[in-house]
Formats: sequence, C-alpha cells, structure tokens
Amino acid sequence: MTKRIFRGIFFASMIVMLACLVFVIGFQYQFYADAQAEALKSKAYLIEQGIEDSDSYIESIKDSDERVTLIDTDGTVIYDNRADVSAMENHLDRTEVSEALKNGTGESVRRSSTLSKQTCYYAVKLKNGRVLRVADERLTVLAMLPQLLQPICAVIIGALIISLLFATAVTRHILKPINAIDVESPEIDSDYDELSPLINKIKLQNRRIESQIERLNQNRNEFNIISDNMSEGLILTDKSGNIISCNKSAASFFKASDSLSGKNILTLNRSEVFRTVIEKVSTGIHFEGQLDEDGRVFEVAGNPVFDDKSNLCGAVILVVDITEKENREKLRREFTANVSHELKTPLTSIYGIADMLRSGLVAEKDVKGFAEDISKEALRLISLVNDIIRLSQLDEGISEEKAEGNTDLKAVADEVCSRIQPIAEKSGVGIIKKLETAEISGASESLIFEMIYNLCDNAVKYNKQDGSVTVSTGCADGKAFIKISDTGIGIPTEDTERIFERFYRVDKSRSKEIGGTGLGLSIVKHIAASTGGAISVKSKLGAGTEITVEYE
Ligand code: ADP
Repeated sequence: MTKRIFRGIFFASMIVMLACLVFVIGFQYQFYADAQAEALKSKAYLIEQGIEDSDSYIESIKDSDERVTLIDTDGTVIYDNRADVSAMENHLDRTEVSEALKNGTGESVRRSSTLSKQTCYYAVKLKNGRVLRVADERLTVLAMLPQLLQPICAVIIGALIISLLFATAVTRHILKPINAIDVESPEIDSDYDELSPLINKIKLQNRRIESQIERLNQNRNEFNIISDNMSEGLILTDKSGNIISCNKSAASFFKASDSLSGKNILTLNRSEVFRTVIEKVSTGIHFEGQLDEDGRVFEVAGNPVFDDKSNLCGAVILVVDITEKENREKLRREFTANVSHELKTPLTSIYGIADMLRSGLVAEKDVKGFAEDISKEALRLISLVNDIIRLSQLDEGISEEKAEGNTDLKAVADEVCSRIQPIAEKSGVGIIKKLETAEISGASESLIFEMIYNLCDNAVKYNKQDGSVTVSTGCADGKAFIKISDTGIGIPTEDTERIFERFYRVDKSRSKEIGGTGLGLSIVKHIAASTGGAISVKSKLGAGTEITVEYE
C-alpha cells in the first residue's frame, strides 16, 4: 500500500511539474516570438526611414542580420539582400505584401521558400508605393532547446527531487494514522472518518476471532482432559504419520518422556506389528494387531481418518493394555484345566468302586469299606465343588458386600476359635488365644470369618500331634493384624510364595488324605485383597508356620 500511494503521489506531482514546465516553455516561446515580431517591426520602420531619406541606404544594410526585400507595386522583387532577385517569383500573393499594399503594413509567419525556414515577415508600404519587407528566421522550440536544455534539466532534476520528497512526506502523512491503528484493539479516534467502517469491521472480526479461539481452547482442553484421563492410549497423526496428539497413557505405554508432537509415530515403537498397523492405516485400511512389549500385551487398532472429500487426512491409533485381561484369560484356562483334573480324580474313583460293586465281584464283608470310600470321595468332591463355587463367587465380586461400620478382628477370631476347637481337639492340637481389640473398617464380617477360619483350619490340618495353634489379634505400628501361628510341619521356603496359587499343594497326597482342595489359601488371598489386608508368610520346615494379615 505504501508503495502504491508513494508511486501515485510521485507520478502525479511529476506530471504536474512537467506540465508546468511545458507551459512555461510555451509561454517563454510566445514571449520570444512576440519580442521578435516587435523587433522586426522596429527594424522595418528604421529601414523605411533610411530608404525614404536616401535611395542608396538600402545598399548599406545588405549585411544586416535580417533579410530585407524591396517589392515593386506589381509584386516584382526589386531587391533582396539574401537572394538573387532575377530568380525570385512575383510576391504579390504574399500575405504580408498584399496586406501592406492594401493597409500600409502587413505581417505573416510561414515557411520561406527562399530560406526554407519558418520565417517571420513584416512589410511596410513606402511613399513611392513600393513595399519594404523585413524577414527574420522564426525561433522554433527546437531551436530554443539547446539554450533551454540546461535549465530544463535542472528543473526536471529539481522536480524529481521535490516530487520524491513530497511523495515521501505525503505518503508518510497519509499512512501515519493508518499505521497507528492498533489492530488488536482499534479505536475510532482516527484522523480519517473514512476508516471508521474498517475499524468497526476489524473490531467485529477481533471479537469473532477471540470467541473462536476461546471455543477452540475450550474444545482442546476438553479433548485433553478426556484423552489424558483415558486408560487407553490415543494417538492422532496426520497423513504423513506425524504425531498431532498423544495422550498420557500412550506415552507411558511406549515409555516416551519428551514432547512427541510433530515426530513420526514410528519413533514410539518400531516392532513389526506396530509398523504393519501404521502401514495399513496410511493406505486407508483399518487394521489391528497385538503387541508384546516388555512383558505387557497391547492391542493396537489403527483407524484411517478421511475428510469430506474422502481424502485420507490422518489416522487415529488406539492402544489398549490387555495384559490383565490376557493374564486372567490364562488363569481361567489353567483353572478350568485344573478343575477338570481335580473333579476327574474322585469321580474316577467313585466310578471304579461302583463298577466293582455292580459286577458282584466284591465280597459281602468288603462292601461297607467300599461304601465308605465312595462316601469319602463324594465328600471330597462336595468340598471341592463348594470351594470352586466360592472362588467363582469371589472372582465375580459376589458376597463382597461392604460393611457399614467397623469389624473387630478380636471378636471374629474368638468365634472362629470356638468353632475350630472341637476339630483341633480331635487332632490333638491345642488352641491358644492372644486376642486384643483390632478394629478394621469397611470389611464384611462374614468374609473376615471365612478368611480366619481357613487359616486356622490349615494350622490345625498341617499340625503335629500335641501341637498348638496360636491365634493373635491386635494393633502394632498403627496397623490392625490377625496372626495365626502353628507348630506344624512347616512349608519349604521355595513353596511359600506358591501356596496361594489355585490347586497348589506342597504335599499332594497328604493334602488329599486330610481332605484339602488346594483352594483354601486362594480364597484367603482373595478375601484379604478385597478387604484391604496384606498377607505375609513365615515358615520353617518341621517347625511351624506363621501367617499374618495386616490392615492399614
Ligand atoms: P489345602 O486345601 O490343600 O489345604 P490350601 O490352599 O489351604 O489348600 O493350602 C495350600 C497348601 O499350602 C496346602 O496344601 C499345604 O501344603 C500348604 N499349607 C497351607 N497352610 C499350611 C500350614 N499352616 N502349614 C503347612 N503347610 C500349609
């Protein structure tokens, strides 16, 4: 804009100045022409005077600067100081001559056939009727130019400089109020009233832009809040695979710490699965793959994104951590296989005995013994099924009801001791109670009872003749605890971690003999976890075991 205004003013002022120059030259020319005509006239009268005084006067001015011609009354040229009169034609038809013959004087300007130049004539009628004509070469503009060239050049250069300065100053002056407009917050106290609509428009646009930016920020914040609180990884890329957005989950899945914006998505992971997903998506195909990364399993789903004209413009990559799901699936498969195996053993036994009894091969006296075996296996089957059902219930979250108030571990442990006492007595095991108040909150009393009962039951089951089980409750280091220690067979160190696994038994035949299912401690672990307890085991083979559950 500055350039255009500058150019406009510059050329306009140049044109004005040059027009002035032309006008001045024209005026000057006219002035010179008039002065020349006047001089010619004076000269003519002067010569006329001379001739009138003496006929020979004409000879004395033959070297005059002007051309002097004497023409007879019939138009014949009698004398000419520049040309041979014999060769000259009749001059009666010359304007100045005919005018002089008629009116006494005459003048004209025309191209001379004798001098072949633009010539100025002045003619005077003498007393004898003849005509005296004085002529001089007319000054043309071109003829004047050499003399005027210097001042013209000076004027042009001056005009150029003045135009430059003028254009610069005027441009600056015009643009100053425009440049002074604060686009961020324009005010209408501008020098130009004409700018008011523009300023109002800018204000309106500013308001629109502000509200759009606010809306965009709001949308971006909402998106960030949602995406950063997603447990799934969400990555948005442009069509070249450069990351536009990567939420916290995705960054942590791929252990990316620094800013990822603008980087290629393959910098996150270069595994074959990931590369295949990205390659497919970049060709507009939805694709999914499973990624194993540092012991974790991720499901990666790539969705191409298309614009209104169905052109591929980017991709959305969703990464889901399915490690837990996979582990659960694995555990479920193992559990199902174990359940089938555990159920099959007593059922095979029952079937075998029943088959023998049916075949009539068993002697009458042995029938009772076989019937007892069937009953024992059936009981084992029942307790196995009961434990499986219980574990399934705990897995499903059934009976994990929260208690409203506090539960005192002392009261629950006391009740368990009363229940277990007869069984312990049968096994020749003594129960020692060291119970102090230990309140925990939010835990179901029936679940706590079940947990303590299972632990006490094991402590009695895996004890020795005349052994003892000590049940302690109380608070230590700000934590409520229940501790069951026994003087039993103990657990080998390498097995202490595994006894909470489903169907894991240190000594399978002994457990089977005493009616164990291998699920009791799994149930204990489940209940402890769901009530907020932490289990620890201390055991020494042949000396005894101590299992503690602590609550913060
Ligand atoms: P089970 O029904 O076989 O007792 P549990 O899950 O209750 O199954 O226990 C798993 C295994 O842990 C038992 O088979 C046993 O070998 C071992 N165990 C549990 N409690 C004790 C304990 N107090 N003393 C010794 N071994 C124990």
